[in-house]
Amino acid sequence: MYKKLVDFIQELYQTKEFLPLHEPRFIGNEKKYVNETIDSTFVSSVGKYVTQFEEMVAEFSGAKYAVATSNGTSALHIGLKIVGVDKNCEVITQPLTFIATANAISYCNAKPIFVDVDRDTLGLSPSKLKEFLEEFAVMDENGNCLNKSTNKIIKACVPMHTFGHPCKIDEIVEICDSYNIAVIEDAAESLGSYYKGKHTGVFGRVGIFSFNGNKIITTGGGGMLVTDDEELAKKAKHITTTAKIPHPYEYIHDEIGYNYRLTNLAAALGVAQMENLQLFVDKQRNLAQKYNDFFEDTHLEFIKEPKNSKSNYWLNAVILKDKEERDAFLKYTNDNGVMTRCIWRLMNKLDMFKDAQTGNLNNAEWLEDRVINISSSVIV
Ligand SMILES: *Cc1c(COP(=O)(O)O)cnc(C)c1O
Repeated sequence: MYKKLVDFIQELYQTKEFLPLHEPRFIGNEKKYVNETIDSTFVSSVGKYVTQFEEMVAEFSGAKYAVATSNGTSALHIGLKIVGVDKNCEVITQPLTFIATANAISYCNAKPIFVDVDRDTLGLSPSKLKEFLEEFAVMDENGNCLNKSTNKIIKACVPMHTFGHPCKIDEIVEICDSYNIAVIEDAAESLGSYYKGKHTGVFGRVGIFSFNGNKIITTGGGGMLVTDDEELAKKAKHITTTAKIPHPYEYIHDEIGYNYRLTNLAAALGVAQMENLQLFVDKQRNLAQKYNDFFEDTHLEFIKEPKNSKSNYWLNAVILKDKEERDAFLKYTNDNGVMTRCIWRLMNKLDMFKDAQTGNLNNAEWLEDRVINISSSVIV
């Protein structure tokens, strides 16, 4: 069966060479636009491509405002900061995520709380979230949500759309609204994915995308913060650009800011990649269909887009019987030139977060032992 899969993947990608998990594709105007920025000398954080890239992502996602950042992690950091997350706060997120989600919470000196994911979405579970809040949350006289067990404010919640598959974001937002908890959507992996017809990343107060080299489109490194809130957008732009007060020649900064602006050089790449985003999503959905057909005749479960959603299928994934089979699968495929990877170690098991509060994590623990990612580069 493993041999059949390796043959199938090599046939899909028409190669016997080593196959990485997810390679970028540059089939459009990338070189043209990048060369243009070099010729213009505007390679740094000022230039027309940064604004154009922001406008394109805002339009594609349906967000009112978009602010380009140096990477997805910095967008998350700023997203948390502008809704007021600081050292007195706690932030709920899922244990099954890429480290950036938990790191960004730590950059604000806040503490993460890990609440379980759903088995069908791989994203934060609204029912487990509700359960956790019903047990631990109490509202104080200022309308803050306090954690009874720590007396800290639960200020924000960061659900993540794992591998591009949308989580039940509308239910999560509704629960968080009732506790005055701001939702920061980690949509790093889900550009091009929709939930109930609406693009991921625009359900919460703030959403973020990543354009790292392995994402569905890339700027080398880059990120974007999106929001419908004009004040938040202004604040994000201000503190990602060193909090400088506009002035023709004086340097005046009115708070501690960050050098998190995306460069024009990277944005030029981004604009060219955005021109092909829809094509890439269509191709990924087509590839997923092929995998789905292949796995139907096997005992492995191919992870399909959840109900009510249209996924970008950024990273294809399968569920194996148990950890033993997972390890055998990883070994065979990687030994035979097809790169595969297991899912992330749960955040609460990492040294930095081992003391974090968690809910019951049955689903995350079950998935951690069984989920494998398989070749997912766009086939052009
Ligand atoms: C990629 C990613 C990020 C952001 O990563 P950067 O490399 O900083 O752009 C954040 N969260 C998740 C879940 C991701 O997959």
